[in-house]
Amino acid sequence: MGRITLDKVTKSFGTAQVIPPLDLTIEDGEFTVFVGPSGCGKSTLLRLIAGLEDVSSGQIRIDGEDATMTPPAKRGLSMVFQSYALYPHMSVRKNIAFPMRMAKMPQEEQDRRIEAAAKALNLTDYLERRPGQLSGGQRQRVAIGRAIVREPSAFLFDEPLSNLDAALRVGMRMEISELHKKLATTMIYVTHDQVEAMTMADKIVVLRAGYVEQVGSPLDLYRAPRNLFVAGFIGSPK
Ligand code: ADP
Ligand code: MG
Repeated sequence: MGRITLDKVTKSFGTAQVIPPLDLTIEDGEFTVFVGPSGCGKSTLLRLIAGLEDVSSGQIRIDGEDATMTPPAKRGLSMVFQSYALYPHMSVRKNIAFPMRMAKMPQEEQDRRIEAAAKALNLTDYLERRPGQLSGGQRQRVAIGRAIVREPSAFLFDEPLSNLDAALRVGMRMEISELHKKLATTMIYVTHDQVEAMTMADKIVVLRAGYVEQVGSPLDLYRAPRNLFVAGFIGSPK
């Protein structure tokens, strides 16, 4: 579960075509990073996959099924935002439980999933605190916890670490990579940071002005960048 296919997907805002026809396959269980300069369409692409934006044309398939018109909540995906989007007046436990409460999941199942997420993210001792009583890294973990309890077939991260300071970013990168190993779930991770892309990805998708410049493993891109744009962006010697 977690294979995502884009078939000739386009997106225009008014007359501006931000995503020209784009074909892309995200393999099941892979950690895929979308990397590219600011404004190249990374967030738009992720929002199209999440269903937060409608495609202008083309098809999106999730696990073989046409999901192009499927509402976000029914796509089986969880998105983690840079801004955390936590409820300040609710405890960590309630923040994490929120999507399950909305889905009216039985309380015992909610509790089981909260305990498991808290354990995976080292939040067990913080469940009764409010977001304001946590560090930036802990808040980001709560946001990830809220995504985990939905048991999605894929996680979508949009620059989740860009609000953290450099030292914390390194730690959180390792934590997210570790989580990917533990959960063995598809993850799509958007960043403009080459180091994040090179250190975290199984597969990197280099985007430029809405189109795909190159797809490959970090080593592929480092050894054989297709052009100067990719070379410059990845920092390889071509
Ligand atoms: P990135 O995440 O790579 O920085 P975005 O996907 O946010 O890039 O934006 C890609 C382009 O689409 C930009 O030129 C941006 O101005 C434009 N764009 C994004 N969202 C909208 C919107 N809702 N309405 C109009 N233009 C938009
Ligand atoms: Mg963005």
